[in-house]
Amino acid sequence: MSAVNVSAEEIDRFARLAARWWDPDGESRPLHDLNPVRTAYVAGRVALQGARVADVGCGGGLLSESLARAGAEVVGVDLGDQVIDVARMHLHESRLDVDYRVQSSADLAAAEPGAFDAVCCMELIEHVPDPAALIRDLAVMLKPQGRLFVSTLNRTVQAFSAAIFGAEYLLGLLPRGTHHYENFLRPSELARWMRDAGLELEDAQGLKYNPLTRKACLGGSMAVNYVICAHRPV
Ligand code: SAH
Repeated sequence: MSAVNVSAEEIDRFARLAARWWDPDGESRPLHDLNPVRTAYVAGRVALQGARVADVGCGGGLLSESLARAGAEVVGVDLGDQVIDVARMHLHESRLDVDYRVQSSADLAAAEPGAFDAVCCMELIEHVPDPAALIRDLAVMLKPQGRLFVSTLNRTVQAFSAAIFGAEYLLGLLPRGTHHYENFLRPSELARWMRDAGLELEDAQGLKYNPLTRKACLGGSMAVNYVICAHRPV
């Protein structure tokens, strides 16, 4: 296994959240609140019924399950075995079918190049040591015309205030140390790596989230959370 693009500290951090992953009021609460909006965004750009979709850094499987519920054949990979255990267990409750694997992005890309209609990588890229290499792996997985969706946090004062100061320190919604400002990524950086990986940019949207009202919506400013969609040309 070529699992080099990983920080053990990050995997441990998420392993501690594994047991409460599906608790909508637990530490994964922002992911629960964002999930319907990001699922709708993907569903608006890919015909999910019967599509093969990879969810890279799937965690406990929030997005994987909603994509499967929309009719996609989903492969969910993560390098945390505890979160994958939780994701697998939750299938007993949801009665959905998702192929969960403890596998790196590089190994999935090597095993199944050009195999996916869509590849989703949500809230992961700010946690890996080499984000450009992750984008290259994700690009390899796409079929021609396949779409890549990446969401992350922008490297701005607003993102620092909301995701670190607000969510971790002021409101205590996330454990302190969940995010590192220097790993946040500007949309222009992500866009450059996508182009370098041979992809064409299609769309970029802000993902607005108010942790107090728990309302999330697409559009508006990309200063905090955002999602970028690119596709592999034929
Ligand atoms: N994508 C999911 C989970 C985001 S949390 C969602 O948005 O709902 C980040 C996840 O990335 C965690 O499950 C963590 O275990 C995983 N992770 C961290 N570093 C990783 C790496 N280098 N490769 C694969 N997964 C990683």
